[in-house]
Amino acid sequence: MTAIERAASARHPFLDGKAKKLLIDGKWTEAASGKTFNSINPATGEVLAKVAEGDAVDIDRAVAAARHAFEGPWRKVKPYERQQLLLKIADLVEKHFEELSLLDTLDMGAPVSRTRNNKRRAVGMLRYYAGMATSIHGETIENSLPGEFVSYTLKEPVGVVGGIIPWNGPLGTSIWKIGPAIATGCTIVLKPAEEAPLTPLRLAELIMEAGVPPGVVNVVTGYGETAGAALSSHPGVDKVAFTGSHVTGQSIIKASAGNLKRVSLELGGKSPDIVFADANLDEAVPGAGMAVFANSGQICSAGTRLFVERKIYDEFVERVGQFGKGLKVGNGLDPETQIGPLVSEEQLQRVTNYLNIGKQEGARAIAGGARLTEGALAKGYFVPPTVFAGVSDEMTIAKEEIFGPVISAIPFDDIDEVIQRGNATNFGLGSGVWTKDVSKAHKVAKSLQAGSVWVNCYQAMDPAVPFGGYKMSGYGREGGLQHLDEYLNVKAVWIKTG
Ligand code: ADP
Repeated sequence: MTAIERAASARHPFLDGKAKKLLIDGKWTEAASGKTFNSINPATGEVLAKVAEGDAVDIDRAVAAARHAFEGPWRKVKPYERQQLLLKIADLVEKHFEELSLLDTLDMGAPVSRTRNNKRRAVGMLRYYAGMATSIHGETIENSLPGEFVSYTLKEPVGVVGGIIPWNGPLGTSIWKIGPAIATGCTIVLKPAEEAPLTPLRLAELIMEAGVPPGVVNVVTGYGETAGAALSSHPGVDKVAFTGSHVTGQSIIKASAGNLKRVSLELGGKSPDIVFADANLDEAVPGAGMAVFANSGQICSAGTRLFVERKIYDEFVERVGQFGKGLKVGNGLDPETQIGPLVSEEQLQRVTNYLNIGKQEGARAIAGGARLTEGALAKGYFVPPTVFAGVSDEMTIAKEEIFGPVISAIPFDDIDEVIQRGNATNFGLGSGVWTKDVSKAHKVAKSLQAGSVWVNCYQAMDPAVPFGGYKMSGYGREGGLQHLDEYLNVKAVWIKTG
C-alpha cells in the first residue's frame, strides 16, 4: 500500500473493522443466514469490509417492513413533512460528502477527482425531489357525460418499491431510487450491487439520522441471483426500479410477471458519438475522449462508437489516442488520478476479452489495448484509455457493450449515412454530435433514436432533465417531472352531482 492509500483507508470512519449489516425496519441486523461477503478495493485487491449477504429470507423481512410502514403512519405524513425529510437528508449528504465520495472511490475505484465532483449532483437531486414532494397533484377534467358529473384525478404512491442498483455510481443511483420514493410517499427496499455496497449503507445511516421512520427505507445487501431475484419476483413489491445490464433487465421483467409489478429499467448502451469535420476539434478531442474514458468507461451512456468524418478521421483519431495516453491512470485516492481501475476482476476479464477480440478482428489499438501490470497497478484492475482505429460496424467491439475505457473509432462519409449507421443498434441510451453547423446538429438530434443527445458536449446531466433509454436501453425516465409519475398511480374519481 502506498502512503496515500494507507492514510485514506485508515482515516475512513466507516471502515471500522465491523461487518456491515442490513437495514430492515429501522434496525441494523445480520443476514438470516449469518453469511457475509467481502467488499474489495479494486485499486489494490484489499478487503475493505465484510458485508451481510442478504438473501430471499431477508428480502421477505424487508418487504414486510416496507409494507407495514406503507400502510401505517407513513401514509399520513404530509408532502411538506416528506419535503423536510429530503432536505434534511440533503444537508447530511452535503455535510458528509467528503466521506461519501471517498467511500465510493475506495469501493468502486472512481478517482476522487470524479467522486468529489458529484456533490452538486447528489445534493441537487435530493433537493429537487424535495421540491417535487409538494408539487404532486391530480387534475380536474371536464367530462361530456349527460347529466352532472365532476371528474378528477388523484395521484397516489404506488406502494412498496424494490430499487436494484449497479456499482458504477453507488451514491447517485441510490439517491435516484430513494429520493422519488420518499417524495411520493412510497416505501423502498434497496438492493445495492455486491461490488460496491458501502456507500448505500452509509447513506442509509444518514437517512435514519434525518428521522425517516423505520421501514420506509430498507437496505438489503447481497448477490443479484439471490437477493436481487427475490426482490424482483416478490409478490409484496409493487414496483421495481432497476439500473444495470440489459440481460438482468430481461430477467427482472420475467420475474415481475407474477404480480404484474410496475418496472422501470435504465439499461446498457452502445452509444454513437458523431464528429463532423466542421466541429471545434480542440473541444471535440477531449470531449469525445472523456465521453468514454470517464469512470473507466463504466457508464451506460458512454459514447463508445466514435463516428468520425472520413476527411479528418486519421488526424482526429490520432489526437484522441494522444489525449488518452496523456491521462493519469492510478489509484483513485491520488487527487491527480484521472482514470481509476475497473470495478472487479470479473470486469477486468470481460474488458480484456473484448480487447483481444478487437485485435483478432483486425482493429488497431493506437492507445492502450492491454491491462497495466507495472508496479503498484499490477495489484489492481487497471486498463488504460484505449482507442481502436480501423473499426467497422460489423466488428464485435462496434456492436457489444464493453463497459471499459475503450473507443471504437469508425469512419463515415455523410450525414444521412451516419444517422442510419448510428441507429443500427438495439440500444438507444446516449448519443453525441460535434459540429458548428446548427442545422446539422438539429437534424442529427432529431433523427437519433436515443434518450439523450448531447451536442458539442457529452454526459451533461441535471436532476430536472429526464434520462433514460429507447429500445433495449430500457423504459421509464429518471430525473425530470416524469420521474415521480413512475412512483405514482393515477386514480380517477367520478362524483354525480346532479
Ligand atoms: P453489471 O453487469 O453492471 O454488474 P448487473 O445487471 O449484473 O449489471 O447488476 C446490476 C444490479 O442487478 C446489481 O445490484 C446486481 O446484484 C443485480 N442483479 C444481478 N442479477 C440479478 C437478477 N437475476 N435479478 C435481480 N437483480 C440482479
